[in-house]
Amino acid sequence: MDIRKLDSDVVDKIAAGEVVERPSHLLKELIENSLDAGASEIDIEIDEGGKSIKVTDDGKGVEPKQLPLVFARHATSKIQESEDLWRLSTFGFRGEALASISSVSRLNFTSRRSGSDKAFRVHCNFGEVGDVAKVSSQEGTTVQVEELFANIPARLKFLKSDSAEVTQIKNVIKAMALAHFNVRWKVKVKGKLLFFWEACSSMEERAKQVLETQNLYSHKAKSDNFEVEVVFSDPSTTVKVSRQIWLFVQNRWVQDKTLQAAVMEAYRSLLMHGEYPVCVINVKCPPDTVDVNIHPTKSQVKFLHQREAFRAVHWCLREALEKAPWIPSGAATKVREKPVETIVPNLEFQQSSFLKTQFKQKSLSPIQEIKMADLQKAASIPVEDFVESSSPTSSLNQDEEVKKASNYWSKLQVIGQVNLTYIVAQSEDSMIIVDQHAAHERVAFERLMRDWKTGSVEQQNFLLPLTLDLEKDEVEALLELQPEIEKMGALIEQSGPSTLSVMSCPSFIKESGLVKALEKLARERVEKGGSFALETSIADIFATMACHSVIRAGQALSLEEMKALLEDMDEFPLSSFCPHGRNVSIVWKFSGLERDFGRTQ
Ligand code: ADP
Ligand code: MG
Repeated sequence: MDIRKLDSDVVDKIAAGEVVERPSHLLKELIENSLDAGASEIDIEIDEGGKSIKVTDDGKGVEPKQLPLVFARHATSKIQESEDLWRLSTFGFRGEALASISSVSRLNFTSRRSGSDKAFRVHCNFGEVGDVAKVSSQEGTTVQVEELFANIPARLKFLKSDSAEVTQIKNVIKAMALAHFNVRWKVKVKGKLLFFWEACSSMEERAKQVLETQNLYSHKAKSDNFEVEVVFSDPSTTVKVSRQIWLFVQNRWVQDKTLQAAVMEAYRSLLMHGEYPVCVINVKCPPDTVDVNIHPTKSQVKFLHQREAFRAVHWCLREALEKAPWIPSGAATKVREKPVETIVPNLEFQQSSFLKTQFKQKSLSPIQEIKMADLQKAASIPVEDFVESSSPTSSLNQDEEVKKASNYWSKLQVIGQVNLTYIVAQSEDSMIIVDQHAAHERVAFERLMRDWKTGSVEQQNFLLPLTLDLEKDEVEALLELQPEIEKMGALIEQSGPSTLSVMSCPSFIKESGLVKALEKLARERVEKGGSFALETSIADIFATMACHSVIRAGQALSLEEMKALLEDMDEFPLSSFCPHGRNVSIVWKFSGLERDFGRTQ
């Protein structure tokens, strides 16, 4: 075949395939147009599994003489020159969505400028634009799409069931509503009201409406280039999929492996395997430091300062989690009342500490060289490359502050021990049951992590070295990690081709815990090779050590021992979950007991 230029309707259909692959993409484009028009109320009606969609807004509308242009490809009111792409304040900028949608549907675009008393409508029938007609309608814009993809049967075949498409659509609406809490949303599916969310004043409030859970808390933090707001669940409110991690950059809903990794990293050791938190993360940065134009549906972005983005989110969320705002006490509330702005250590500081801890640095490619592959690669960069593993000064100050404010656990009155497993205690308004093993495990874990970060793990020398029998490659793997293992309080030496001698161990750890941990470390290092992430493993090892070294269930404790354990818990703000993510305590409010016993209604 000769090389020929494609007809414009073929070009349109190809473009439509990229921009509006599914009804949910189409809806996202329409909502973005309404938001760009400054809408404060958006009504959405869905039918036919999204093949029929109507979006009505109270935004600024379109001049009648401009109406035919709304369907023209690359016609936009939002940018003029390429530099504008680096100072975007709107969602749209390509002038492509309505052109694409109107080539694959019957579309009515009705608009009345704010302040005008006349509304006008223009119709487009599978790419054929009609005349502008005067109609009656309220101020704002209504876009009605019908018979979507009726002229491309192949694409119709690719659509999933109506209910699956509607599920996608709901996710889009939830996402848009989360990021735009000051907009009132009304959504009907098949004529029935599905969502009604009044405008509200914060992302936290909106998240409670949209995600239908009240156990949410919020926090904000700033770094050199980023402002981060997080709304997050307590670690016991979890889901089995990562779908409830909602990520936004400049209020745009994005899929971003880096930010996702930052979230999971912040929750590390608070969740069990396969558990995911519920959280909303909104990241803002100067518009010229983020490229939003790398994906047809604008669902991905590329940061100039990708590492800092990771750290800023990780830091903000971790800091918020460490305050454990879900702990029912004056202490926790006091902490939450602190001014929300906190400063993430700047990059220079982080760089020097990276060097100190011998973590290798990857250089960041300048934004001009962005390739799609870079973003995919971000997913495979080991977490250790991002994590600020040694920010002892700032994180300890943080701990100190929380510690001072928080004496929730030590204030409890210990009643006794039941089944040689649980400590029963009471506060002013509740009965608290603490799992002694889980609690002690958490304390031991946090203490190890803290001491490791500050290089002050106390070690205890063995009179007779322990001998570890391993595979040859495991011995080599451990020898390579010798300096790090030493920082953990364990001195090792090769004593045969497949044996290691262990001369010391962290002082409050039992030998059996250390042996298990070293065996695990060796195995992981050999299995994972290059993708091995040291800090992740160290946390794991400490969890193993802690688990094997502390008070067991079935062990009798004196009142003093129980009190001492609770006091230790106050030292570490994350004490309410064991390192494997299990709950450490259960709280029964007296008011609940009274209700159960019929003392109150
Ligand atoms: P883009 O949003 O990239 O500019 P679109 O094809 O989505 O491209 O829209 C084309 C133009 O139509 C927009 O630039 C805007 O001027 C106008 N427009 C579309 N939807 C609305 C709306 N709901 N309210 C006001 N103007 C709109
Ligand atoms: Mg648009």
